[in-house]
Amino acid sequence: MRVAIISDVHANLEALEVVLADIRSRQCQSIVCLGDFVGYGPNPNECVDLLSPLLQGRHVAGNHDWAAVGRLDIAFFNPYAAEAIRWTQRVLRPPVRHYLQALPTQWSQNGALPFLAVHASPRDPIEEYVLDGATARESFRQRQFSLCFIGHTHVPAVFLAVGDEVETRPFRAGEEIRLEAGVRYLINVGSVGQPRDGDPRASYALLDTAAAAVRLVRLEYPLQRTQEKMLGEGLPPILAERLSVGR
Ligand code: ZN
Repeated sequence: MRVAIISDVHANLEALEVVLADIRSRQCQSIVCLGDFVGYGPNPNECVDLLSPLLQGRHVAGNHDWAAVGRLDIAFFNPYAAEAIRWTQRVLRPPVRHYLQALPTQWSQNGALPFLAVHASPRDPIEEYVLDGATARESFRQRQFSLCFIGHTHVPAVFLAVGDEVETRPFRAGEEIRLEAGVRYLINVGSVGQPRDGDPRASYALLDTAAAAVRLVRLEYPLQRTQEKMLGEGLPPILAERLSVGR
C-alpha cells in the first residue's frame, strides 16, 4: 500500500494542487495530513475544501489551525504569523472553522506497518519544534512508536533511534529510506506550502508499506501566483517573499 504523508499546507492552493496531482499519478491508496492547513497563505477555505474530503479522517491539528479557531493564543506567534492568523480568522467560512476545530491531535495507522501521525512531536503534538537529536530523544523516551511522521518545522529530516542513541539526518529530495527492524523512526516530511530548508519546492513523503520504505518528493509549483494573491489580500509581504527562497 502506498500512503502519501503531507503537512503544513498553510493555505497555499497552488502548491497543494501540484502535490495532489503528483499523489494521484502515483496511485496512492490514502493521504494523511499532519496539520497546519491554514495560516500564512491566501486560500484557507479552498485548501480545506479540496483536501478534507480526500483524508477521510486521516488528519491532525497544527498550531496554526488551533490559532485560527481561537484554541491557541497568538501572543507567542511572530508578528507576521499573528497578522496572517488574524486575516485567516476573518475569512474562514463556518464549515471550515468547524472542521479545523474538530481535528484530533494525533492519528494512528494500524496494520502491517503501523505508524503515528502528529503535527509537532509525539510528546507535544501541537507546539514542540524537533530540530535536533536531544529533542527527538525525549519523544522516543516518552512515547511508544516504531514510526512517527511529523511536520511543524517545515524542514525535512529523519531522526533514528536505536536504544537511547539518536541519529539526525537531513531528508533530501528523491531520497528513499528503508525502514529497518529494531530501529525507531521520527520522520519530518517538510512543508507543502511554505518550505524552510532553502529549497522552495513543495515537500511531501510517500510511504510504501510493502517495501517498508519512505521517499521524499519535492515539486515545483507556480509560487508567483501564490505570492500575487498574498500581496493582493494585504498579507505581510515578507511571508510572500520567503516562498521564493524556501526560508
Ligand atoms: Zn507550519
